[in-house]
Amino acid sequence: MTSFSPSAARRLPPVVNDPIRAYAPGSAERASLKARLAAMEAECPDIPVVIGGKEIRSGERMQAVSPHKHGHVTATWHKATADDVRAAIADGQRAWREWSETPWEARAAVFLKAADLLAGPWRDTLNAATMLGQSKTVFQSEIDAACEMVDFFRFNAHFAQELYHEQPVSPPGMWNQSEYRALEGFVYAVTPFNFTAIGGNLCGAPAMMGNTVLWKPAATQMLSAWYTLQLLHEAGLPKGVINFLPGDPAMISEIALSHPDLAGVHFTGSTGVFNAMWKTIGQNMGKYRSYPRIVGETGGKDFIIAHPSADVQAFAVAVVRGAYEYQGQKCSAASRIYVPKSLWPEVRDRVVAMIKDIRVGDVNDFRNFMGAVIDQKAFDRISGYLADAKQHAKILAGGGCDGAKGWFVEPTLVQTEDPGYRLLCEEIFGPVLTAYVYDDAKWSETLQLVDRTSPYALTGAVFAQDRAAVAEANVALRHAAGNYYVNDKCTGAVVGQQPFGGARASGTNDKAGSKLNLLRWVSARTIKETFVPPHDYTYPFMREA
Ligand code: NAD
Repeated sequence: MTSFSPSAARRLPPVVNDPIRAYAPGSAERASLKARLAAMEAECPDIPVVIGGKEIRSGERMQAVSPHKHGHVTATWHKATADDVRAAIADGQRAWREWSETPWEARAAVFLKAADLLAGPWRDTLNAATMLGQSKTVFQSEIDAACEMVDFFRFNAHFAQELYHEQPVSPPGMWNQSEYRALEGFVYAVTPFNFTAIGGNLCGAPAMMGNTVLWKPAATQMLSAWYTLQLLHEAGLPKGVINFLPGDPAMISEIALSHPDLAGVHFTGSTGVFNAMWKTIGQNMGKYRSYPRIVGETGGKDFIIAHPSADVQAFAVAVVRGAYEYQGQKCSAASRIYVPKSLWPEVRDRVVAMIKDIRVGDVNDFRNFMGAVIDQKAFDRISGYLADAKQHAKILAGGGCDGAKGWFVEPTLVQTEDPGYRLLCEEIFGPVLTAYVYDDAKWSETLQLVDRTSPYALTGAVFAQDRAAVAEANVALRHAAGNYYVNDKCTGAVVGQQPFGGARASGTNDKAGSKLNLLRWVSARTIKETFVPPHDYTYPFMREA
């Protein structure tokens, strides 16, 4: 296949967001998913390292467990060795020669097929893997592992098409072209536990643009990552375009980040890990063949602020959904709220009543609104914050945790009078929400407080019926969030509708699921062709008269 295919006249099918299924009692989709959950709970795949399509089992085996039933092993997986990492990089270079020359519409077709497989016959498998392995409820899994991943694959193909069609002007006598080449080298994708779709996208977006990818999934997302890789292979992704390296992140990163062919890093995870990777890249600058593209979406300390004119019930619902869905383990989860004194008693009582109504437990029981937090480390970290709150603030609801069977933490509402209290500033990544009550007269000052309280700027929301208040907040909070909501919760961004990413310590803001992100994975070549080149080196001004 060659890079100059007659592709300009081709158009991909129109793109729409994948509809969310309801899984209502009695529905066929619910019965089908329940059956798949039961079948997969009885299985325990032995997940290998995958290089060039070859499965390698190093023998150093780890276990993946269900967070809500941590005695239950969902899969075993093999840690990559240092030799595996080097072999994966070499194999990626082999695959790159063909894949980077494959016409874009052929690459897009792979991902469109993956999207259709996932929307159809693979849906239950990816949903069940995400529920069992990451403790998502059926709804949280459906909007992540099914809808969002389908949307990433379809919309990225659509955005790639738009990008490839962006061409410079050509005055008479010449033809100017932009050729959007793959990066020269490999992209290192390091993915978090909390979204199956992010795993698929951090590999999929660079691969869509003709790159080959070294994928290091999070240990706690292993089961759904494994099925994502198989889905892409079933859709026709050539072996070696994405090589799969479960294992020790520090060891794998040391080799990948010091390799001369490192062309890019596509990371989502905590700010500290990303900063360390960036530093390593800086130290290795003399070694690279090109300047690596560094894309990272990191932590958050997301806020919701209510104006005295806010609709109290809408605010309370946004707070509960925003803070507690997926156990507060979304980068976008609400973790600090600012409420005027006049509304506080009503807001507090409604939020506390909803918290008391929330069921927490095994996600196989569809009545539960929350599952467990991801692992012992997260459980201990969140428990530490709860202990701090018991000592230094007021716990209005929740506050308990029980790690005996699963890592369960109650949805918790904390109130503090100290605007600099650490629970208002630090990312907790659990179902703990802290409220600060402000004087109604201090709306403008409170907006400033929201803006400067944490180093992050990922998501945020304002609730107000008063249009002037909305306008003031929009300006005051311009740099406080990369995804900003008016009268809506601060979670639930949809691909193609709300491109996602934050600024400040929340990342490079390259907006996952948008053309801006795809731009990072290409290196443009400008081609000028002159049809009839001059044959005389002199210019008219050089003549005497
Ligand atoms: P994490 O930083 O612990 O892990 C992310 C990835 O980095 C994993 O694959 C992990 O194995 C790897 N890693 C860990 N140590 C490493 C090292 N020394 N070198 C290289 N790689 C290393 O994050 P997590 O717990 O999986 O995810 C939660 C974090 O991700 C939160 O901070 C959350 O805000 C953030 N997040 C951000 C977004 C966003 O779009 N901004 C989206 C999802 C999650």
